[in-house]
Amino acid sequence: MTTTITHWIGGAPTASDGARTQPVDNPATGEVIAHLQLGTAEDVDAAVAAAQRAAQAWGQTSLSKRSAVLFRFRELLEANIDELALLVSHEHGKVVSDAKGEIGRGLEVVEFACGIPQLLKGEYSSQAATGIDVYSMREPLGVVAGITPFNFPVMVPLWMAPVAIATGNAFILKPSERDPSAAMFLARLWQEAGLPDGVFSVVHGDKTVVDALLDHPGVDAISFVGSTPVARAIHARATAQGKRVQALGGAKNHGVVLADADLDDAADHLAAAAYGAAGERCMALSVAVVEEAVADALVERLAERARGVRVNAGDQEGTDMGPVITAEAKERIEGIITSAEQEGAELVVDGRGCIVPGFESGYFVGPTVIDRVRPEHTAYVEEIFGPVLDVVRVKDLAEAIEVINANPYGNGTAVFTASGEAARTFQRQVHVGMIGVNVPVPVPVAWHSFGGWKDSLFGESHIYGPEGIHFYTRAKVITQRWPRRDDLAGASFHFSGDSAK
Ligand code: NAD
Repeated sequence: MTTTITHWIGGAPTASDGARTQPVDNPATGEVIAHLQLGTAEDVDAAVAAAQRAAQAWGQTSLSKRSAVLFRFRELLEANIDELALLVSHEHGKVVSDAKGEIGRGLEVVEFACGIPQLLKGEYSSQAATGIDVYSMREPLGVVAGITPFNFPVMVPLWMAPVAIATGNAFILKPSERDPSAAMFLARLWQEAGLPDGVFSVVHGDKTVVDALLDHPGVDAISFVGSTPVARAIHARATAQGKRVQALGGAKNHGVVLADADLDDAADHLAAAAYGAAGERCMALSVAVVEEAVADALVERLAERARGVRVNAGDQEGTDMGPVITAEAKERIEGIITSAEQEGAELVVDGRGCIVPGFESGYFVGPTVIDRVRPEHTAYVEEIFGPVLDVVRVKDLAEAIEVINANPYGNGTAVFTASGEAARTFQRQVHVGMIGVNVPVPVPVAWHSFGGWKDSLFGESHIYGPEGIHFYTRAKVITQRWPRRDDLAGASFHFSGDSAK
């Protein structure tokens, strides 16, 4: 019998009154492993009410007590990493060691948030004018919500929740309906860490729940991570309601290989960045942009790497790459590979029709290399979000930068080169938020913020790091005067006149 996954509201598993449910399956086997309750607007009302009650006290809780909860949460997360990684692998399909990697990157953000007493120190100007001190502080917003994608069911919620909670807010998570169990696991760990009930809630569901969160007057800010069309719509709807919004969207990340690069090293990194997590990473390198002079040599190496990828269920020993998330995703990705062939690109390694013995009903797509892709090809225009690497040939660095800057996305990019000068030109001229120099997947460490440009981010704020602290708080500036009784010089009718200085 499969389990039914309920919401987590007010510190307890909470069943929905709504009758709708959705199956959750294991992408490696195609088997239904759970049923998920899809929430209603009433469930959102209940979660917001619980969060509002909790936020009042939590926002007044001392920084050292908040920090202590975060430290305990960190320890618990680390102690439970094996169990959580297996859970992620069974619902998402990714390899267990890769799931541990994503939990590790989430842990980093928790560690950053443990330093909240230092991060919220504020600023102080003593004697800003004669007898006057000015200081600023940041206060929590109240109730904030996070809406997250399927591809990082632990890391992306942890880009948001630790920072939102450390800064004194209550946080409501609407996780992806494809792999919802990790959110419930996190909820239990938060509770065990001593977080008061209602400060972290989970409401599962689809557009109904998302719209209810966007429209709810009790929700002060929205963090969204997902595809570009949804990010754009969420940003428009929630900002129209006067909410603070950061909405991170999709990507098409280019890895540039210059003629002076070590081609074996570049091919190793491109293959790992294209096929890791079956290409279902917003920072996956999905396009190799290569200087014509070394293109044949690079493609030969990429093909060899692609053919060597061990495709299997994510919980099997020695697996490099698991299945994609759904049968529909497999069909869509294979359709794009077919279109590349029809539109005149060259299919070098074809991952269609991939069958894994013992897992014949799984949603596997094999690693794919498509050469001579042009910007008008469907395989270039679409965010494929699968194990497909496009190769675009260019004459030089300037043309590579042109290709990247003409693309509507601007999440991540990387350059492989032995030239500091070329790397510097690249880094200064590309219109992209996160750049790697001989680093294929440049996800910033937790104490820098993460975010793309153009259609990869709607809103002003990047996520986690210093911008995360800023996003989840608002400023107060206090100007104070404590004159000595014998020094009361009278007030001036002039605004900030010299006499005040
Ligand atoms: P998605 O946009 O389909 O879903 C994301 C979230 O939005 C889910 O919780 C989903 O339930 C909800 N949602 C979906 N459609 C909605 C609608 N019409 N109205 C309201 N809510 C809706 O994305 P996904 O398929 O889960 O994840 C993959 C996408 O996320 C890719 O495009 C990937 O690039 C992107 N992504 C971006 C980043 C980043 O940092 N920029 C990180 C991870 C993933």
